Amino acid sequence: MRKKIVAGNWKMNMDYPSGLSVFSEIINMVKDEVTGSQQAIVCSPYIHLSSLAQLAKSNSQVSVGAQNCHQAESGAYTGEISASQIKSVGAEYVIIGHSERRQYFGESDALLSEKTVITLKNGLTPIFCIGETLEQREGNTYFDVIKEQLTGGVFNLSADDFAKIVLAYEPVWAIGTGLTASPEQAQEIHAFIRKEIAVKYGQETADETSILYGGSCNPKNAAELFSQTDIDGGLIGGASLKSRDFVDIIKAFN
Ligand code: PEP
Repeated sequence: MRKKIVAGNWKMNMDYPSGLSVFSEIINMVKDEVTGSQQAIVCSPYIHLSSLAQLAKSNSQVSVGAQNCHQAESGAYTGEISASQIKSVGAEYVIIGHSERRQYFGESDALLSEKTVITLKNGLTPIFCIGETLEQREGNTYFDVIKEQLTGGVFNLSADDFAKIVLAYEPVWAIGTGLTASPEQAQEIHAFIRKEIAVKYGQETADETSILYGGSCNPKNAAELFSQTDIDGGLIGGASLKSRDFVDIIKAFN
């Protein structure tokens, strides 16, 4: 059975005290309210990671991740953070290839592939993001775009390594816009992604891969999205900044 996951992406929000306080609320609410084996992950700014990882030790259903890492093991890269540094503070996940990294920092599929490899090498789980722009959706090239992102970013992994990753389908036009993909639109792409995985790595691996949906997911629309056959949870931006909303999204599985 593949894992059911709700991952929050705080982006460049939350000062240090607010982050600790929201995360503590999440841990307590998950403990009291979430039944089942869902995994909640908070991908915070780097400054919070160590403290959040300490707090997360009290609840195995809640983990911590980063939002990016550098592709090199270590060295003279002023201002960057390595996968081994992230691992060393107790974080377990790293978002790789978020559309904001692709758009504002020019991250290519080739670079993202390097980041994925270094993340896995350091025992972290990449949450690898793919998704088309509005122009690509309207131009009906979105299946090609998704396939290209998979091929360039993660289909070079060995079968063993691929089995360790989590994928997130995030249509760029739905991120932070309030325009959620309909459950049918999202399911169509998730099924396509799973089919492509099956072609490359076999049906068993495809069936075991968690594929999250991201893009204006909130407590109101989460249950319908998560009930789709190939949607295994969500990557949540705005709604992950409020503990109540984030935990209600996790509860949407029940
Ligand atoms: C995201 O940035 O990954 C995201 C899904 O954002 P939002 O939920 O705010 O659309």
